[in-house]
Amino acid sequence: MTYDPKLLDKAKRHPEKQKNPDRPAGRKPDWIRVKAPQGKLYQETRDIVRKHKLTTVCEEAGCPNIGECWQQKHATFMIMGEVCTRACAFCNVATGKPNALDKLEPLRVGVAVLQMGLKHVVVTSVDRDDLDDSGADHFVKTIQAIRMKSPGTTVEILPGDFRGDMEAIDSVIYARPDVFNHNLETVPRLYPTIRPGARYFRSLRLLQRVKDVDPQQFTKSGLMVGLGETKEEIAQVMDDLRAANVDFMTIGQYLQPTPKHAPVDRFWHPDEFAALEKMARRKGFLMVSATPLTRSSHHAGEDFKKLKEAREKQLTKQAAE
Ligand code: SF4
Repeated sequence: MTYDPKLLDKAKRHPEKQKNPDRPAGRKPDWIRVKAPQGKLYQETRDIVRKHKLTTVCEEAGCPNIGECWQQKHATFMIMGEVCTRACAFCNVATGKPNALDKLEPLRVGVAVLQMGLKHVVVTSVDRDDLDDSGADHFVKTIQAIRMKSPGTTVEILPGDFRGDMEAIDSVIYARPDVFNHNLETVPRLYPTIRPGARYFRSLRLLQRVKDVDPQQFTKSGLMVGLGETKEEIAQVMDDLRAANVDFMTIGQYLQPTPKHAPVDRFWHPDEFAALEKMARRKGFLMVSATPLTRSSHHAGEDFKKLKEAREKQLTKQAAE
């Protein structure tokens, strides 16, 4: 498997992983091929991100879809800095002690959304376990700034778990994002090694809380496969998400960013993704996206339209029954 040299240079960004032995994952299968980033709109997206001194998870996580997404002027903003207080074994975002919050960042995100003419925006963040509210207020301010600068844009957020602080979580729900997305990332058995700072049921409770407080808000969650999970464990996660009333599930292939990260256990075949999608649809999700290159924010704008249509269809059907 070949690694992005930029990401390898940045291996120092993960001091806690330097003691790990190199565990290269082997060659990527043909179905994981992506086009090199280029094109006029790609450059324009990059220029706006740079001009407003914004951070994107597209770059920080080394997302394979960056060429396609940025060419369509779709980027996922990552707020609250570039340094995460957790050290998940799959993630390429730098870890360590973060800087103080930049109070003007919410406004800069709002202005960038306006200048890019986005119909739908996704905002994620690093985990800020160092802050009393884990950054909830910064999320609220960012949602408000987007609403103020670009009122026609729908807002999808992809935050961490706010350490399970219900007051913090509620404040973000009350800011009424259109989609509240929070990824489970992997099956519960693998949490201690893959997501050691998180708790499976804490994340599930967060998703359940969104629906309890505001049933109109769409909820979404995602899994990566290829870390050693079984099909039965994935089925259980689907059941848990449905029990929490989650509307939309995404499933994508885990790709190892550097040899120091968790190794790829195996590459799931596109036919297996199709089978997972079928299984999830049978379990009652309004929307499912399951392909090797599915990421939480991939095609988020188009998917949001489909999500609304699916809900309307479901409501019409229920009314007729
Ligand atoms: S899939 Fe999401 S993170 Fe990846 S490039 Fe597209 S918008 Fe960015």
